Amino acid sequence: MDHPLQAWRDTLGDLGVLGLVREAPAAPVPPAVPERRAQAQAAPIVTPVPPRQGPPAYVPPTAPGACPSAEVVAGCGSLETLQQAVSGCLACPLGGGRIKLVFGEGDPQARLLFVGEGPGRDEDLQGRPFVGKAGELLDKMIGALGLKREQTYITNVVMCRPPDNRVPAPEEARACLGYLRRKLELIQPAVIVTLGATPLRELLGVSEGITRVRGQWRRLQVGDREIPVMPTFHPAYVLRQYTQDVRRAVWEDLQAAKAWLDRPDGPTAGR
Ligand code: SF4
Repeated sequence: MDHPLQAWRDTLGDLGVLGLVREAPAAPVPPAVPERRAQAQAAPIVTPVPPRQGPPAYVPPTAPGACPSAEVVAGCGSLETLQQAVSGCLACPLGGGRIKLVFGEGDPQARLLFVGEGPGRDEDLQGRPFVGKAGELLDKMIGALGLKREQTYITNVVMCRPPDNRVPAPEEARACLGYLRRKLELIQPAVIVTLGATPLRELLGVSEGITRVRGQWRRLQVGDREIPVMPTFHPAYVLRQYTQDVRRAVWEDLQAAKAWLDRPDGPTAGR
């Protein structure tokens, strides 16, 4: 029978971080919100870039009744009711091409939330986020942090598959943004990890390349809270660029997110 630590070692080996974990410099952890003013000079986090257009833009339906109004979305008091409300959404052209709407899944009270770009072929078929090769890698990364997938929440900027797995057009992302923000309000995660450039651009208005900004803490205003955001590479990019440097970068970013989660004085400690 394998030693119980063997699976952990295999996962770290897959991520290319075996032997690097101890040496990897810990990325800075954002200070707790109440401490932020006092530590303004020394704060290791990067000042978040405000969303480009203030509150989430909500694109009206292309046809009457094709999607819930902003008021209906705001009034959804649970993920279930929100999912029900958006199940027939046709607010952007992606809706017409989907097989299944991929709402997102995981713990409705997750402290760690991942936001990717949009569903791919496997996700469209199954109606679940991150179930293909990229999903397998994401699962391994979550496991390497000592967590289970179902302890987190996983979703995307758009809930319907862009054709040929292209990047969602800005108007498509904006049409779905109100739904994503309502999910964040309902879940209230302690940390958000954005996967790739698209969620960072759409949620925070950061248009710089992900290679430049990954690993740098941001903050996202969700309701009356600011949630720390850790940008990192999309798992699909990691699979395409399967280099030691890319894998180590992702591992360091995820460790930073986990370190924030593990703070005993974190904003949602004990949840
Ligand atoms: S991607 Fe979002 S906004 Fe567009 S049709 Fe699907 S659920 Fe509606």
